[in-house]
Amino acid sequence: MHPITMLELQGIPVSPGVAIGPALVLDLDGYRIPKTIIAAESVEDEFARLRNAMKGVASQIEASRKETSAVAGETTADIFSAQLQMLHDPRLQAELGRRVRLEHQSAEYAVNRVLSHYAEALRQLDNPVLADRAEDVRDIEKQLLSELGAVMQTPLSEISEPVILLARTLTPSETANLDRRYIRAFCTEIGGSGGHTAIVAKGLELPAVVGIGPFLDSVTAASRVIVDGDRGVIVLNPDDATLDSYRRRIKQRESLSQRLAELRDLPAETADGLRIGLSANIEFPHETTACLQRGADGIGLYRTEFLYLSSDETPSEEDHYDAYSQVVKEMAGRPVIIRTLDLGADKVGRRPMTERENNPFLGLRSIRLSLKNLDLFRPQLRAILRAAVHGDIRVMFPLITTIAELRQARMLLKVVAEDLKDAGIPYRSDIPVGMMVEVPAAAVMLEHFVKEIDFLSIGTNDLAQYTLAVDRSNEYVADLYQSSDPAVLRLIQNCVSVGKASEKSLSVCGEMSSNPGRALLLVGLGVRHLSVPPAALTRVKKAIRSVTIEQCEQIAARAMSLEASRDVDMYLLDRISKYVPELIVS
Ligand code: PEP
Ligand code: MG
Repeated sequence: MHPITMLELQGIPVSPGVAIGPALVLDLDGYRIPKTIIAAESVEDEFARLRNAMKGVASQIEASRKETSAVAGETTADIFSAQLQMLHDPRLQAELGRRVRLEHQSAEYAVNRVLSHYAEALRQLDNPVLADRAEDVRDIEKQLLSELGAVMQTPLSEISEPVILLARTLTPSETANLDRRYIRAFCTEIGGSGGHTAIVAKGLELPAVVGIGPFLDSVTAASRVIVDGDRGVIVLNPDDATLDSYRRRIKQRESLSQRLAELRDLPAETADGLRIGLSANIEFPHETTACLQRGADGIGLYRTEFLYLSSDETPSEEDHYDAYSQVVKEMAGRPVIIRTLDLGADKVGRRPMTERENNPFLGLRSIRLSLKNLDLFRPQLRAILRAAVHGDIRVMFPLITTIAELRQARMLLKVVAEDLKDAGIPYRSDIPVGMMVEVPAAAVMLEHFVKEIDFLSIGTNDLAQYTLAVDRSNEYVADLYQSSDPAVLRLIQNCVSVGKASEKSLSVCGEMSSNPGRALLLVGLGVRHLSVPPAALTRVKKAIRSVTIEQCEQIAARAMSLEASRDVDMYLLDRISKYVPELIVS
């Protein structure tokens, strides 16, 4: 047996918190094949088992080939000839043999690892023909596993013990459907800090680290894992001293949360009395409870596309209406900003909405997709206007890049209001209409846009992505993805001055606002409204209450003189240590 040694790995922190628990490795189909090491004396038997399974699968495929050829002809049966070729591929056989005979891996584990990596490599080639080949590889993998008698273990939905989920990747919708009672944290090999998986993790208050790089091979069936979502570290098989130190951290964090909870009913007001609006970002209606518990002034961003990500069915107008009505009623008079659908790019639903695109983040996403799919957009707009009779609902359009898009969206809102009127359905049409500023083109041209809207909200997650030409969900360029980059700060500064001159309300709802240092910087730049994930509300409130507006302005002035995001963040950390040391957990 291999000795179990402690292994510390660095990834990208995306959702704060610390969790300790047993590892559950998730493979692409949502099943786990734990790593099992075979005793040296049994290795040859294990290898024979693997070879028998390969023979068995080869004869099954050959039988399918013959049958298909008789019924549907030789061309259709070629699929199976190709599968046989793959199964007999000498490199595949050599790698499987190497893992079982030299690394003493179980046949099931070797099959799962080798074939799933092979399929993934084909998928990455971005060629539709090879992507189909990848499905064939997965098919062979499943047949081999079944021939080996592998019990496909617990699907995610049946987990009933606390675990730490380890996976190659998780989509936003998979993350949204994790059962928070049992999944204590997760870590993935790929992914970046701005991806929507990260945003959902924050919404669920689930500690998470992504972009660790290949590590699943190092996890054994019995591994225990620590996930440090504050620092982006995971520890496999921690020793006792490490466990003790993390347990102390967990206690410190709990006591900080209790102290911060006492701020719930106090305003987000600077020490010298300037009131800052502090709202919450939500993805699901049930999150209103956390918002109210932590004293949010309202909902500053409701990401409605998550209605699509958690169901196989396309939501109907009634589904939209029910969700929005629930949120606005529960928020009891507080403003609720509903952001219209922001689908596409990494937020595709269970069924893709668009053909494969080469650059989905630059493609048909968000308002562009909505304006081209009125069957999606109209029911949503109707539902928003209908739900507005229950409270203070405002509507906001995402990813506005040109004035024509804004006008088209507003026009459509007018048309659906007319339809509701004609049909005698109760609705309100006098709701404030805003736009997100998340594309540099809009930030630069804002003085024109601002004449046609009632409020602005800066989406720094996308604004940073598009300003810095860096994919927000790509771990390879994660170090470049910084909303504190001076180029992004300059665009924000421009938006604030346009907002001030036009007297239109402006908020920042990107993740930037949830970082206490960056939040103070924004206030110093003149931002008077922030919207953050519910988990960050009290932390940001504490930071605001600990400084004067003059101190914020000094922070902003100094930050604006720096030339790199790293310098800005180091300086902000220094200011937080000085003004709000309570927030630093050692
Ligand atoms: C943003 O881009 O900053 C934003 C708030 O929207 P999302 O993260 O949903 O793209
Ligand atoms: Mg965005």
